Amino acid sequence: MEKSVIDKIIKAGKIAQELRRYAREIVIKDKPLFEIADLIDKKISSLGAKPAFPVNLSMNEIAAHYTPVFGDSTLAHGLLKVDIGISVDGYIADTAFTVDLEDSEENRKLIEAAEAAVSASVSAFAVGKRLTEIGAEISSAISKLGFSSISNLSGHSIERFVVHAGWTVPNFDSGQKDVLEEGLYATEPFATNGLGRVRDGGKSGIYRVNVDSGAGVRDRFARDVLAWIADEYKTLPFASRWVHAKFGSRGMLALRQLEQAGVLYQYPQLVEVNGGKVAQAEHTVLLLEDGTKYITTRE
Ligand code: MN
Ligand code: MN
Repeated sequence: MEKSVIDKIIKAGKIAQELRRYAREIVIKDKPLFEIADLIDKKISSLGAKPAFPVNLSMNEIAAHYTPVFGDSTLAHGLLKVDIGISVDGYIADTAFTVDLEDSEENRKLIEAAEAAVSASVSAFAVGKRLTEIGAEISSAISKLGFSSISNLSGHSIERFVVHAGWTVPNFDSGQKDVLEEGLYATEPFATNGLGRVRDGGKSGIYRVNVDSGAGVRDRFARDVLAWIADEYKTLPFASRWVHAKFGSRGMLALRQLEQAGVLYQYPQLVEVNGGKVAQAEHTVLLLEDGTKYITTRE
């Protein structure tokens, strides 16, 4: 990997650490999620980076993909996962932690399980290591504390401007044959007191451009909105609230048109199938050929 690339990844990792510290300060019970998301967006920009995706603020049984939309008055509560992505010129750090906002023993144990799992995973990262062994470390750390690892969510390799690239970092002993090689990876265990799977839930307000769809729209304004999105976010996920801030309610109509035409994809929320509570922990690991390992997102 080129030194200039490594330097940008490490810079993204340092900004991600800063954001973790900042988010821990501002995520407090009964604060509007919209306000939290807005503060996080502004902090990222003040540090000279861009969001690699909209901050996910998913509560309780929602495992991932909740971000506030314009007009959302939901207040922070329960077991809240904060998942932050930082992009420095397209080089990404992806990191998450979970906070308990209801002083619950069960919540604290779920957080402990997710953190134990991510630590075990990060320690196991090495060139030549089988990915299925990483998954086994994760699920065993979680089951040791009496919970289930969510098996149909996984970590992933990361490439420039692509958060979820080709490789899966499993959260269970998946049997996959791949071995780790030099690269950038996110590992993200989810611990639950439910069944250990997620299903698609409601719409998230998180979109990305469907690069290979070949679809288009005629409407001039929708095309302008799309051009702005492609320039601003490239192939990275973006939030409908950002489009609203730029174009107002007309922008929301354009999003709907672009989604219906297949130009944009909207992610669904991901919800634990039995309504179990979910805690998440995530770090990005830069693994180099000579064995050097940068944990880009440790506090
Ligand atoms: Mn993440
Ligand atoms: Mn991730």
